[in-house]
Amino acid sequence: MNDTYDVLVIGSGTAAQNVAPRCAQEGLRVAVVDRLPYGGTCSQRGCDPKRVLLAAAEAVGRARGLDGDGLVGRPRIDWPALMARKRTYTAPMPERIEGWMRDAGAETLHGTARLRSRHEAEVDGRVLEARDVVLATGARPADLGVPGAELVTTSTEFMELGELPPRVCFIGGGYISFEFAWLARMAGAEVTVLHRSAHVLKRFDQELADVLVERYRSLGIDVRTEAPVLELARRGNELVVTSEAGEFVADLVVHGAGRVADLGDLGLEEAGIEAGPRGVRVDEHLRSVDDAHVWAAGDSADKGLPLTPVASKEGKVVAAGILGEEAAYYGRAVPSVCFSDPPLAAVGMSAAEAAERDDVHVERADTSAWFSQWRVGQTHAGMAVVTDAATGRILGGHLLGVNADEVVNVLALAIRHGLTAADLTAMTWSYPTATSELPYVLG
Ligand SMILES: Cc1cc2nc3c(=O)[nH]c(=O)nc-3n(C[C@H](O)[C@H](O)[C@H](O)COP(=O)(O)OP(=O)(O)OC[C@H]3O[C@@H](n4cnc5c(N)ncnc54)[C@H](O)[C@@H]3O)c2cc1C
Repeated sequence: MNDTYDVLVIGSGTAAQNVAPRCAQEGLRVAVVDRLPYGGTCSQRGCDPKRVLLAAAEAVGRARGLDGDGLVGRPRIDWPALMARKRTYTAPMPERIEGWMRDAGAETLHGTARLRSRHEAEVDGRVLEARDVVLATGARPADLGVPGAELVTTSTEFMELGELPPRVCFIGGGYISFEFAWLARMAGAEVTVLHRSAHVLKRFDQELADVLVERYRSLGIDVRTEAPVLELARRGNELVVTSEAGEFVADLVVHGAGRVADLGDLGLEEAGIEAGPRGVRVDEHLRSVDDAHVWAAGDSADKGLPLTPVASKEGKVVAAGILGEEAAYYGRAVPSVCFSDPPLAAVGMSAAEAAERDDVHVERADTSAWFSQWRVGQTHAGMAVVTDAATGRILGGHLLGVNADEVVNVLALAIRHGLTAADLTAMTWSYPTATSELPYVLG
């Protein structure tokens, strides 16, 4: 006989964490299943542990910025100790998150779920049946599609390395490559980034991304564009990456070439649930276009950016939908950050979109010599703000520079609440901070 539930949630990451406990607390019979220890990508192998590691790169980078300008001596990254510190954060999480779900009243299961129909899934030979099924399975690295692809190290494996080898090559010019390339460089490695087309970091302002590339080159990171990878091979103890820009030799090759929805094991096709590489096709309530009681949220839904706060918001929308409340996905004003040196951030309308319209205005500034950058020895920075030409409403913000990861939230708030450049200029900001420099760009 099948085990029957009101709600079956597949995955235990950020999206699932916003569905399962709420539904269980509201009295529904909920089961959650994950094939990995509970917690998902963000807490185990994504945002949080990554930023724990990057704290060391920030410290080394800051010291370099003031080297000879009041600071002597350079701190050094102790890789094994840094990894041990990271584990003090990640190790307790699975038990904590699973316990929290159980305390809320959900049944927590371990194993790989595969759909037998739209409302039945099999986990280790056990069949679970549910009125509402939530697909919250996250994302995985995209297939590289080149010979030797099995030699590549994933971001998850990179964050578990016992030692950092001397030569590291990153395939792909997305945010994961830019963050880890900087960490590897600050830890003393020779670092190469190979990107297939002319511009890296597609999700961000292209002029600012180009400035970041200059910065990386000044740090000794070899960023190559127009360098699609053709093949990877092992030669003795070395790895050889053949690209259209030539041959690169490394001890470690890291996958930074994008992620796709992790739907491979789910049996969606047999169950008749439509999905593409960006995820399960859903409506604005995050219901599958094929079945109003099959839901998807987070990286496995074809909606919104693949980011933790988006997964969290989407999970809440799904929970509300299951509980019969009115809720819909709201994807405007979602800030996105590459935690590089310096951080690169974006929210709202891009300058490229703005260039196609004559009713918006883009104000740009090279902020590299401004106080907040100069103070810490940062040499590369810039800003672009997109406003409605008639009303001055903030429509987009793009920042490269110290504290860009925080200042972008001010612009996100402005976009969400329809604030104008004049509103932000009229504010009294704490001083001297990067935010207090915003009015100089806003005019
Ligand atoms: C290296 C890295 C850095 C990142 N940095 C940031 C950042 O700085 N900021 C940010 O906002 N986002 C960041 N992200 C993205 C962020 O981590 C994801 O957007 C977010 O975690 C997605 O949450 P989710 O709930 O959709 O999926 P996940 O948290 O990935 O959870 C999915 C879960 O489903 C399980 N699962 C999959 N298939 C099955 C199955 N068939 N049966 C059972 N279980 C299954 C998986 O084991 C996994 O635990 C980063 C990602 C990576 C990889």
